[in-house]
Amino acid sequence: MDFKEVHLKQQGFFLTNQTKDVDYRKNQLKKLKELLKANEQKLFDAIYEDSGKSEFETYLTELSLLYHEISLFEKKLKSWSKPRRVWTDIANMPARSYIIPEPLGVTLVIGAWNYPYLLSLHPAACAIAAGNTVMLKPSELPSNTARVMTELINTNFPAELLHVVEGGVKETTELLELKFDKIFFTGSTNVGRIVYQAAAKHLTPVTLELGGKSPTFVFADCNLAMTAKRLVWAKFINAGQTCVAPDYVLVEKSIETKFLEALKLEIEKYHADRKDIGENYLRIINERNFDRLCRLIDPAKVYCGGYTDKAKRFIAPTVMNKVTFDDAVMQEEIFGPILPVIPFTNLDEAVKTVKDRPKPLSCYVYSKDKKRIKKILHEISFGGGAVNDSIMHLSNSNLPFGGVGASGMGSYHGKAGFDTFTHYKSIVDKPFWIEPNLKYPPYKKYKLKLIKWILG
Ligand code: NAD
Repeated sequence: MDFKEVHLKQQGFFLTNQTKDVDYRKNQLKKLKELLKANEQKLFDAIYEDSGKSEFETYLTELSLLYHEISLFEKKLKSWSKPRRVWTDIANMPARSYIIPEPLGVTLVIGAWNYPYLLSLHPAACAIAAGNTVMLKPSELPSNTARVMTELINTNFPAELLHVVEGGVKETTELLELKFDKIFFTGSTNVGRIVYQAAAKHLTPVTLELGGKSPTFVFADCNLAMTAKRLVWAKFINAGQTCVAPDYVLVEKSIETKFLEALKLEIEKYHADRKDIGENYLRIINERNFDRLCRLIDPAKVYCGGYTDKAKRFIAPTVMNKVTFDDAVMQEEIFGPILPVIPFTNLDEAVKTVKDRPKPLSCYVYSKDKKRIKKILHEISFGGGAVNDSIMHLSNSNLPFGGVGASGMGSYHGKAGFDTFTHYKSIVDKPFWIEPNLKYPPYKKYKLKLIKWILG
């Protein structure tokens, strides 16, 4: 079906008010979860074809998070969708005041390629939970996952509620010409700007989930073995193609050597002599990204790893040392399995260097010193992060997930996902039997005195 036709259908369907029924939404979410569960093998096979991602990693980093969020919606939707009473101010008394959550309407979700199921279906589920219709445009790069989502959703859901549109830049550009009531975009900062501009034409609100260079601070007082263990897992999962991956490490100079050794030891535990993908390591998404990443590796600065194989789109987990902020690897978001390590001696200078750059999506700090942790959390602006761990903040539904500044605007996960696709309509509701005369003309002096006395 032509997507302009789907858009019209969704507009018409939204006006019927069917999506405002909470049971209807819950049934659709349940159906989505059951559909994915019943077709898990198809989903695993498609993603393996695209990137070599294993069932374990696909379940752990995509499907389990999605199922968890849908189950949360099923449990909480009823209470989140109820009007909420608030206090009435004195000027309006007697009255009732309340806030009605209402869906925005027809929404567009544009997904990124690195977690193709999660980053498309999670925002789509949030939109449905909040009572919207959804046109979903997954990334075209992992073509098998895009195809399997299209096939499953478009044959099992009515197009007027949820429909997948396949395509790349051309199709997305055309989609963005249509008027949506909300656009939820996950992707690069550059394309985020294009989406924001297109949305402005229709005054469409946007959530932009973008990227950036997420710093990690490692202090001499940290538990070195545990730091290396958590950091190596977070960096190299999905072959480093994770928006919140630690992009680079700032390590206290006094432990630089020991830290590099700990990283190497940890990498060797499950990536030893790696020359190909396997159960716990995957490919670079395409040749363009493979070439881009190879250009970022300076062979003279490789501490460990550095092996690449173009035919397999394979890059071994690589740590670089003696890196400076002028190196190529520090000029753009890495988004691959390369970890530059930069030593620092003066914390104020290190913090300033980070603050002089665009606001990152995440920031991590490994230390036992509360004062240093507080300094970093309070002085640097970033989307979200972790203390003594990396990337795990995104699995907690109680923590809104999103960027700030160049790393994005708005957030989702848990209740924040419902809020992102909801308008909160404020109502003051009055009886007819009384109306104080104070605000009405004639505006007498005594009335002003009384108003000043009452309102302060
Ligand atoms: P991308 O910006 O290239 O593509 C994202 C989407 O935009 C795709 O669906 C693509 O088809 C579409 N698109 C690409 N060019 C377009 C154009 N000119 N006009 C209109 N649409 C266009 O991003 P990507 O390569 O898929 O993802 C990598 C980036 O996404 C990284 O920067 C990463 O940090 C970020 N990211 C952020 C999050 C997050 O939650 N904040 C999650 C994953 C990825």
